[in-house]
Amino acid sequence: DFLEIGTETRTMAILNQYRLFAKKGLGQNFLVDIDVLRRIVTTAEITEDDSVVEIGPGIGALTEQLAKNASKVVAFEIDDNLLPVLYDTLHDYSNIKIINQDVLKANLPQVIDEEFGTNKSVKVVANLPYYITTPIIMDLLHNDDRIESIVVMMQKEVAERLTAKPSTKAYGSLSVIMQQQKNVDIAFLVSKDSFIPSPKVDSAIIKITTKEQTGSQPFDLKKFQGFVRGCFMHRRKSLYNNLQGIFGKTAEIKENIKEVTTEMGLSDNARPEELTVEEFVELCNRCNTKGL
Ligand code: SAM
Repeated sequence: DFLEIGTETRTMAILNQYRLFAKKGLGQNFLVDIDVLRRIVTTAEITEDDSVVEIGPGIGALTEQLAKNASKVVAFEIDDNLLPVLYDTLHDYSNIKIINQDVLKANLPQVIDEEFGTNKSVKVVANLPYYITTPIIMDLLHNDDRIESIVVMMQKEVAERLTAKPSTKAYGSLSVIMQQQKNVDIAFLVSKDSFIPSPKVDSAIIKITTKEQTGSQPFDLKKFQGFVRGCFMHRRKSLYNNLQGIFGKTAEIKENIKEVTTEMGLSDNARPEELTVEEFVELCNRCNTKGL
């Protein structure tokens, strides 16, 4: 075992030894590119004091690189078949804990308390299972008081939506919800050839960090998220129309919506994708104040 897990030679040997077939339904695409693996660790700025949570260790390629640099790594893996494999491949590392659980069903704050201590925050690093990228990201946002930063691989298309600017095709509710809470950037792109088997889509590594909150904040974060989704419900309709979709169509409601949008200087045919993140916050708060 001189070769690292994330080399193509070693990965092929492990897959053969355990007669493993990548499960498409679980988004299993194994990274076989040591350079990419190291760049992920560098992008996450992992140091020896760091507590790391990984999602979907697979056969342990990224887990190994994290364990070499971090204080401790806790990894959630849903696939029972991979547990004996991980036990073997990561045998030499004493700072790894594998939890055999669906990450979406895990109680993350509780796991962090138990594994790292009650006042620790963690860095999340992962090559995500693509079929649940968005629910995982939303889940992490909801637990963000225990998370210092997030560096994850995902479909390039989702990465572009998360980082999109107003008046672009990719700009939507995901962009607004994410960027309202966090700084988010695409760190680098990864070719399909870096995986076994290669996925159908291109991939990107994104880095999500704490945003210094200066301007006004949503009166209620959950309601803000629902509001933004409602504003983008029918992309080709006007913002005014979408707001009626959220609040209703009675004469009084229409009147109130009109007043709010006029106060903000928005034209009647303004489209949702034209608004900045700050404007969505203001619009949401003003609607609330107006009793909508
Ligand atoms: N980390 C490995 C790598 O980079 O080569 C594997 C990444 S693979 C893209 C995604 C991994 O997530 C797979 O190991 C898969 O079994 C696991 N997975 C899928 N759904 C999951 C879930 N709901 N909870 C935890 N792990 C999951």
